[in-house]
Amino acid sequence: MSRYWSPLLKSLSPYVSGEQPRLPGLIKLNTNELPWGPSEQVLKALRGAADDDLRLYPDPDSSALRRAFAAAVGVLPGQVFVGNGSDEILAHSFQALMQPAAPILFPDITYSFYPVYCGLYGLQQQAIPLREDFSIALEDYRRRNGGIIFPNPNAPTGLLTPLQHIKTLLQNNRDTVVIVDEAYIDFGGESAASLIADYPNLLVIQTLSKSRALAGLRVGAAFGDEELIAGLERVKNSFNSYPLDRLAEAGAVAALEDHDWFVASCARLVNIRDGLLQSLQAMGFEVLPSAANFLFVRHLQHDARTLSEALRERAILVRYFDKPRINQFLRISVGDEDECAQLLQALPEILGSDAL
Ligand SMILES: *Cc1c(COP(=O)(O)O)cnc(C)c1O
Repeated sequence: MSRYWSPLLKSLSPYVSGEQPRLPGLIKLNTNELPWGPSEQVLKALRGAADDDLRLYPDPDSSALRRAFAAAVGVLPGQVFVGNGSDEILAHSFQALMQPAAPILFPDITYSFYPVYCGLYGLQQQAIPLREDFSIALEDYRRRNGGIIFPNPNAPTGLLTPLQHIKTLLQNNRDTVVIVDEAYIDFGGESAASLIADYPNLLVIQTLSKSRALAGLRVGAAFGDEELIAGLERVKNSFNSYPLDRLAEAGAVAALEDHDWFVASCARLVNIRDGLLQSLQAMGFEVLPSAANFLFVRHLQHDARTLSEALRERAILVRYFDKPRINQFLRISVGDEDECAQLLQALPEILGSDAL
């Protein structure tokens, strides 16, 4: 800490992401990236965009990309905002759309960036406990608030909140913005984007980082009423007019246009996930029902931290959270067929005879 730091800077507790070591042979099941690369069309588009035009600034409105998102999601281009990863859009949303007069509500177990943004933008916060079964109790969000945010499916639990419950919340919460963070929606949920025409306070945020295998490209989008989108544009144009570079826009458009790759990739992932779930259950793990590309699991006879360390010794990384309520769980990203087979081979060796 330096004496040159501002009081706000001194008060921040930044987000800590899962580690990204680059060791050969490492099985990385700790950050929910897709285990295989993106569509060939994306790579082609990126190569095509790598030319002398890079001397020019990109389109500040990312018009082509907004049209592509609008077509993919079934909304109007004016109802789309794009950003440099959904994290950036989340940050703009907290600054632009959350109200400081009352606490921002989110689940007690959820994406840990939300409290960080509250700190960055001087917002009050209140964590609402998940139910005993780890589902989000949306009826508990009907209280005074400066905004509501939750992921669907939730992270790190993987549990899906039914669209009907979100609708009920929106019917009962008309005065503040409700943000649904759909980072994992493509692995088993129905997007709330279909509701934006009816609820001018609903903002839905998606990303190409997970289901499109493009975490490295940094592209996300938000869908909502034109006025909400205009609010996000105001913040964007007060911060960075060109958040998406030429390569990102070209690659993202190609990704959204390759529907066949997308459908096949999601189906393959879901198929591996469901097989992994059954195998883990057979080894004595309790596995929460997942609509995402990861499983949240605990073993009744084995300490989670010890398990994660034993896996690490075998070059398999999973995510362990040393937090109340979930410190006996592991979050395991679904790998490819081979990575999951190696995980399923390592686990019985670690668990010993009681796994058999
Ligand atoms: C991965 C993730 C994000 C961030 O995605 P980027 O688009 O890569 O910034 C946002 N929300 C949740 C819940 C996530 O898991």
